[in-house]
Amino acid sequence: MIIMTCYDLHSHSTASDGSLSPEALIARAIEHDVDVLALTDHDGTEGIAAAQQAAQSTDLTLIAGVEISVTWGNGTVHILGLNIDPEDTELQQGLAEMRDFRVGRAQEIAKRLDKAGIPGALEGAKKYASEIMLGRLHFAKFLVEHNYAKNVQDVFKRYLVRGKPGYVPGQWSTLADAVAWINVAGGQAAIAHPARYKITATKLRRLITDFKEAGGVGFEVVSGRQHVEEVKHLARLADKFELFASCGSDFHTPDSWAELGKLSPLPESCTPIWTQF
Ligand code: AMP
Ligand code: MN
Ligand code: MN
Ligand code: MN
Repeated sequence: MIIMTCYDLHSHSTASDGSLSPEALIARAIEHDVDVLALTDHDGTEGIAAAQQAAQSTDLTLIAGVEISVTWGNGTVHILGLNIDPEDTELQQGLAEMRDFRVGRAQEIAKRLDKAGIPGALEGAKKYASEIMLGRLHFAKFLVEHNYAKNVQDVFKRYLVRGKPGYVPGQWSTLADAVAWINVAGGQAAIAHPARYKITATKLRRLITDFKEAGGVGFEVVSGRQHVEEVKHLARLADKFELFASCGSDFHTPDSWAELGKLSPLPESCTPIWTQF
């Protein structure tokens, strides 16, 4: 019998917009038979130390990671940094700037929602967040709690995306900076959930080209709850552009669309990114 190692290289904790603490995340990953887990919180690594500690006495291997928000071509894309040194000064300086932007953005989101007749959003969103960072998902939970929409998906559509009352354009890092921080911290950069950006095939190829030029090496071929045809398509792109393939659930919370370790296997043609760890 061949026992396959289960890799899940994309997950969130309360250090960003996940709902489990780093410790609880590790426990759940083990319950779901994950062997290698990357913690990839948005724009910060504050959860890594606690996760590492929790994983230490177990069979689970924790990979230090981060998911960096990037402004590219009029929109936002996410770049995963895997196997990074979270102590790296240059990386931390870059991430600190992004955290600062989030503080002001959260105030602006609340101000705009207030104008749209929704008071108390900043305080309300903070109830769902740790001290570390405030993101749109925290606002979404507050809005659902107060019946402004039926679920998180619906809230985003009605309030938090471009053209809607609570939307504030991101001013995130450049693609070149994000990849450079990851590389200087000894990690591998990978384009996160490439199928989720609402961009044309041509624009996606341009993103990949820019990303490779910046020194990026990876592509998330398998993401949580993805159609098999989409996986095949992304695997072909990874082949064509000679990118290492990554797989990750993008787990945020129990009982949602993405569960830890619940991933289809990487197609045979792929070279897994963990060969570079
Ligand atoms: P932020 O980085 O604060 O702008 O928030 C982005 C996060 O919001 C993503 O990482 C997701 O966790 C969440 N998100 C974005 N769009 C949606 C959506 N349509 N439905 C549910 N969650 C979403
Ligand atoms: Mn998120
Ligand atoms: Mn993402
Ligand atoms: Mn993510």
